[in-house]
Amino acid sequence: MENKFCYKCGNIATTREHVPPICLFPEAKDVLGLNFRKDLITVPSCDEHNSNKSHDDEFLMVSIAGIVGNNLVGYLQTQTKVDRAIRRKSKDFLNKEIIKNYKHQTLKSKNGKKYPVLYGNPNYNRLLNCFEHISYGVYFHEFGERFEGVVKMLLGFINYDDNNTQTMTEMVKEKFIINEIAKELKGKNPTVFKYQFFEPDQFGLIGLVMTFYEGTEVFVAFQPINSKEPFDLSMSLLNAGIPTFIEVGNKIFEFNKK
Ligand SMILES: [Zn+2]
Repeated sequence: MENKFCYKCGNIATTREHVPPICLFPEAKDVLGLNFRKDLITVPSCDEHNSNKSHDDEFLMVSIAGIVGNNLVGYLQTQTKVDRAIRRKSKDFLNKEIIKNYKHQTLKSKNGKKYPVLYGNPNYNRLLNCFEHISYGVYFHEFGERFEGVVKMLLGFINYDDNNTQTMTEMVKEKFIINEIAKELKGKNPTVFKYQFFEPDQFGLIGLVMTFYEGTEVFVAFQPINSKEPFDLSMSLLNAGIPTFIEVGNKIFEFNKK
């Protein structure tokens, strides 16, 4: 029954969607014949929620494969498939669609090697939209049903200008790390993509961490329709703009810094 309906909207499914998009997984010809496409996840999808049709797949691949901190697989993907995709596009493709006002910079690693990097403003909302689709797909795959509710996300690889958001990202990371009710780490091609669900917390929120190329992390909270709105004193102080310290594990996070 469940395979007849779209993982995202519940309308009649007309196709199947790869989650994450297949283009994130290197082709054998680009990685010395190695197979990074074992047992890829697919879910039933309507036309509208097939990300391939909206070119979001390619956008996502170009945006994240080369993120600093990713592994060698991400690097190889950047040198091959991503490079080919960029060459096919117009000259201002990177600036217009992927990363605005970028500058070329050189990063130095611990062993003194230099890496060229682009530094600028990523297309944040489009990234969020892509990761939201992947979250819904992974949820469908894990639980065999469509998620109904609100999805909240933090992109762990983005440095936020706004102090609170940056601190919140650090805090969420810490919360996930010390969470003792993590489920099994999953993903048949873990060097490209792996994910881990968490048991619902006291508010009924279901946590998910997705990791791409072992370096790019996305933190997701699924808030089902019938769950209570999470509420505690520190969160309301924080939202009111009052300087607030929140302790997670043995670390203290400071919000609304003066
Ligand atoms: Zn749909």
